[in-house]
Amino acid sequence: MAYVISDDCIQCGACAAECPVSAISEGDGKYVIDADTCVDCGTCADTCPVGAPSEG
Ligand code: SF4
Ligand code: SF4
Repeated sequence: MAYVISDDCIQCGACAAECPVSAISEGDGKYVIDADTCVDCGTCADTCPVGAPSEG
């Protein structure tokens, strides 16, 4: 499983800066997580100000 980012994302970029495996990049209207790279650590969910990332 990988984390996924919901449409609540406000594109602040905080999660991308904290992801230990650089799985997060800027997508179309929100940031997106590469499921093959994500190691399910949960750091993005802990970092996000709006709770957009969750376990997919
Ligand atoms: Fe990166 Fe961890 Fe979030 Fe996966 S759960 S995208 S590895 S910060
Ligand atoms: Fe979007 Fe949250 Fe990541 Fe900021 S920390 S880019 S609001 S998912």
